[in-house]
Amino acid sequence: MTKVAFIGLGNMGSGMCANLARTGHEVKAFDLNAEAVRKAEESGANGAGSVADAVEGAEVVVSMLPAGKHVLSVYFGDDGAAAHSAPGTLFLDCSTISVEESREAAAQAKAAGFLMVDAPVSGGTAAADAGTLTFMVGGPKEAFEKAKPLLEIMGKNVFHAGDAGNGQVAKIANNMLLGISMIGTCEAFNLAEKLGLDAQTFFDISSTASGQCWSMTSYCPAPGPVPTAPSNRDYKPGFAVAMMLKDLKLALGAAEAADAETPLGKHARDIYARLDEDGHAGLDFSGVMKRIRGDI
Ligand code: NAD
Repeated sequence: MTKVAFIGLGNMGSGMCANLARTGHEVKAFDLNAEAVRKAEESGANGAGSVADAVEGAEVVVSMLPAGKHVLSVYFGDDGAAAHSAPGTLFLDCSTISVEESREAAAQAKAAGFLMVDAPVSGGTAAADAGTLTFMVGGPKEAFEKAKPLLEIMGKNVFHAGDAGNGQVAKIANNMLLGISMIGTCEAFNLAEKLGLDAQTFFDISSTASGQCWSMTSYCPAPGPVPTAPSNRDYKPGFAVAMMLKDLKLALGAAEAADAETPLGKHARDIYARLDEDGHAGLDFSGVMKRIRGDI
């Protein structure tokens, strides 16, 4: 049994926290939203009134927060986790944040005598609830080994990607590819349909040919071929346009800093940014199909 502090009980964190509490770990949970803390108590965690209260006596601090500024302030701000944790405590941040901020957090943690890993996830709220997330972990081997048993409760795939920040690198590079491949898949289905080839027949051919990709076979943006895909429920998310846009912005910021060429990544960012500006932030990211068809 491990004493865990869990900070950030939103769409993702609530299910992850519940899974840790369910497996017998002593979890103390905090969120700025009191209602989220009350729900965490219902799922077996103890509620906390502040970050300081949550981390008191904890061996591991898990966080699932919106962005880098929240992560830096929860860990290293006045009255943050670092000020109230014993040396050697493991800081396990699962949020998606910039590579730069993630490396900055790891350096601050190391300097203050803490272990830290970045462990962003692939998989949405359903995977968070079911404990089937994929974790991409960056940080020292010792910290990774300590984090692994908890990550294996919250997820089904756990990868050590290398040093601090490399979890974020894996996440943003993967999601940039996903954004690009989704747009390409939409274009191909739209072209086939315009030329008289129905979606199911094109799917049957292309999913076993060289155009095959996850955006097609697991998440087909044309309604019909993949019944579980958001395209069959008018593109209700799933993984929203706003989330894809966030990850593309992080990818392009990191690409600029590393002087890496990302022409299609930029184009994908622009397409999702336009959808967002036009009021479609809450549409599933495969809803780019509607734009390509000229429906929105
Ligand atoms: P969310 O906005 O639903 O939850 C974030 C929670 O953090 C909120 O409940 C908020 O009150 C809390 N919070 C913010 N500042 C805080 C502070 N200082 N102290 C305590 N609590 C604080 O977001 P989410 O959808 O759960 O996403 C969390 C992270 O996971 C993000 O980085 C996101 O990019 C990433 N992610 C989300 C998904 C998804 O499908 N939602 C998928 C993969 C990764």
